[in-house]
Amino acid sequence: MSRCERTWGLEVHHKRIDGGNDLNNAMVLCHKCHVNTHSYGDSNHKSPEPFSEETKKAALKRAGNRCECTKGTCCL
Ligand SMILES: [Zn+2]
Ligand SMILES: [Zn+2]
Repeated sequence: MSRCERTWGLEVHHKRIDGGNDLNNAMVLCHKCHVNTHSYGDSNHKSPEPFSEETKKAALKRAGNRCECTKGTCCL
């Protein structure tokens, strides 16, 4: 299975738009994969609660500082 291995331009994505802003709802994605998520930049969705710096740091650490996308279609 291919997965994205980018380690730069990482952003912390909300898994669920209404899932809150704690670590359970955080997923590390590079910008390219983040843009590819359907909710990104969709003006019909109101923006979810932003993650705190602490949560972002914890999410990046958990992900080993790389994109966690496993779709394999947006990462090529
Ligand atoms: Zn990626
Ligand atoms: Zn991807």
